[in-house]
Amino acid sequence: MNDILEGLLSYVSNYPGRIPKAELDRRWDEIQKGATKEAVLREIEKRFTEALKTLGPNLVSADETKEQKQQQAQQVELLALGKELRKEVDKLFLEYDLLCKIEYLSIKPEIQKEFQKSARARNQQPIEFYKRLRPYYYRAGFTAPKILNDIKSIKFLGSDLMVHVEMEKILKRAEQIVNDLPREVKLEVYSKVHTILGLQLRPIAGKETLSLHALGLAIDIDPGSNPQVIGKVAKAINDILDSMPSEMVPDKVSQGHLEDSNIKRDLSITSEERLLQAYEKLLSTSQDIQAFLEQKTNDLELLDDWEQTYLSKKDDPKLGNQPYALLGNLIVAFGGGNKESQIKNGIRKIKAVKENGLVTIPLELFNALNKSNATSGIEWHTQKDIMHFETTVPSTFKQSK
Ligand SMILES: [Zn+2]
Repeated sequence: MNDILEGLLSYVSNYPGRIPKAELDRRWDEIQKGATKEAVLREIEKRFTEALKTLGPNLVSADETKEQKQQQAQQVELLALGKELRKEVDKLFLEYDLLCKIEYLSIKPEIQKEFQKSARARNQQPIEFYKRLRPYYYRAGFTAPKILNDIKSIKFLGSDLMVHVEMEKILKRAEQIVNDLPREVKLEVYSKVHTILGLQLRPIAGKETLSLHALGLAIDIDPGSNPQVIGKVAKAINDILDSMPSEMVPDKVSQGHLEDSNIKRDLSITSEERLLQAYEKLLSTSQDIQAFLEQKTNDLELLDDWEQTYLSKKDDPKLGNQPYALLGNLIVAFGGGNKESQIKNGIRKIKAVKENGLVTIPLELFNALNKSNATSGIEWHTQKDIMHFETTVPSTFKQSK
């Protein structure tokens, strides 16, 4: 990192005024964590108002005049200090703006392009978008420009993506394992993989935490056909499995079809065996759901008609009853909500599941990535992120704080 940047980062320690350094350090930390100026100033206001109250005018003393004078002096001092602190906070925010600009400019062009793309989608300036995302990196313990500059464009199984150099090593190993497979198997793996996403500049969906994708330390393989089975989707799928006659689902368990906690706890099996068990369970769930969709969409309307049916009968109380509810819930869960565009999105995903099941990533690829130290989202206990593979963050990447 260049000197200007170092200078800005250590701005507080060079501060010569009379506000305690610890106070400014704390404010600087708050700002970097994403506090708004309004919030910081409001908090200062509150603190000083409270402090002034403690210097109230109703002291009883033998020498009242002297006490009052002393009190007045303290009040004047406190007001001056508050004013100065507000001024310093103003300055800190200006410094922070400047820091963000300089940092953004120190990011290499190919990553800046990603910021431009994401910013455009949000109708923002790239620097504004960087400023919005920076607190997530900071809170996770990363110096944003430093870790971003370790991300690069690579090819994996014929797909172009951007990942961190650590992830690149893992993917290279995995690709070598795939390339060493018997020719037909290898070609099968290559032919089944279409799109791989690496770097995604965002927090974890619906959370205040940075996604490993924003560090280039996670990849998603064919997200369109390997959905996330988490939250409401997991529940909708479990409800469907629960509703199925047991002869149709020979391996049906009474509860928690996607819960593999017993697999995880068994330390006697290797990680490859554990992965195989998770994969087989997922495959059987996938087949059950396909069977359900096959039956339901044939029994009622085709999914094409379902869209119209659903949208026109959305407020029909009958929709709350079987068999609409189970399919409807899955559509809403997959689409992320009840709005027309979400219903359409949900139906698109259901069609993909009906066609391809819940997983199109070949077992051989799961194995190759597992052997190369990438953790698969299908190994999570109760909920699955089927498309997702990640690596743990080496602690040396974090800034020393
Ligand atoms: Zn992912």
